[in-house]
Amino acid sequence: MIIDGKQAAAQLRVAIAQGVTALKESKGITPSLTVVLVGEDPASQVYVRNKAKQTTEVGMISNEIRLPVSCSQAELLSQLSSLNNDPSVHGILVQLPLPKHIDESVVISAIRPEKDVDGFHAMNSGRLLNGESGALVPCTPQGCIILAKQHLGDDLSGKHAVVIGRSNIVGKPVALLLLQENCTVTIAHSRTKNLAQVCQQADILIAAVGRAEFVQADWVKKGATVIDVGINRIEDAVTGKMKLVGDVDYAAVSDVCGAITPVPGGVGPMTIACLLKNTLEAAKLYG
Ligand code: NAD
Repeated sequence: MIIDGKQAAAQLRVAIAQGVTALKESKGITPSLTVVLVGEDPASQVYVRNKAKQTTEVGMISNEIRLPVSCSQAELLSQLSSLNNDPSVHGILVQLPLPKHIDESVVISAIRPEKDVDGFHAMNSGRLLNGESGALVPCTPQGCIILAKQHLGDDLSGKHAVVIGRSNIVGKPVALLLLQENCTVTIAHSRTKNLAQVCQQADILIAAVGRAEFVQADWVKKGATVIDVGINRIEDAVTGKMKLVGDVDYAAVSDVCGAITPVPGGVGPMTIACLLKNTLEAAKLYG
């Protein structure tokens, strides 16, 4: 079975739009998201455009601040300070990656945790780790859990989940969310020995590696749920054109697993939808 991320994201956006209307009616608050883009990276420009479009489509206010690639770290921090202090801004997202002369970790810690809709601030990761309420949780990991539940239902307890990848953006937070769902969680990474055997244990296999078609069919237990986070651009062997593929050998693994997310059209669309979910949450909790 194919887990359709486009459809799940569309459904989530409908629910978010309803939440936005309810918040406007009950408290007179219209959630607003400000995206800060430094430089002119073409891929980042496309992401920012998509985010803006979807933000307004659910009835939120979308603002964009574009800074030149020459912008200093101090200038960016000063911009963030104004946004932190502006009560009409509920969500702040600094589009990554940043130019090399700017320290990403300094920038992330400068965003007020209550407005950190990417969920990367140490306060939010700490709250997630402690299982405290009020955490803004990273978007892609949230999307992974929603998609896994789409196939398996709401109760994931007791399932063995294997996450390949331990980044702060995907691997670690998705592992914590799976733990919250009472899964038995294994985190595999570049130093893991016998990766194939580790993966064969998984009822839920999450691949967040960044290596094209890395996960092979004989690593996957029959009937497992496979969530492919990877986005890799490779040349098509037949047409010679560039195409997007995930971290899983989709065609081969599809024959073995119970359900799988495609690339594109799986986890990707959920990421922006969960960003809007976080913005609504931030406006509700702290607006
Ligand atoms: P990252 O490079 O920060 O982390 C990759 C992880 O993979 C590392 O923790 C590393 O230990 C592990 N790894 C590398 N080689 C390995 C190997 N041979 N065996 C086992 N583990 C290995 O990447 P990231 O930011 O976590 O992103 C992972 C992938 O997900 C990338 O393709 C990225 O483009 C994609 N991504 C997609 C979305 C989305 O919205 N769908 C969002 C974020 C990232």
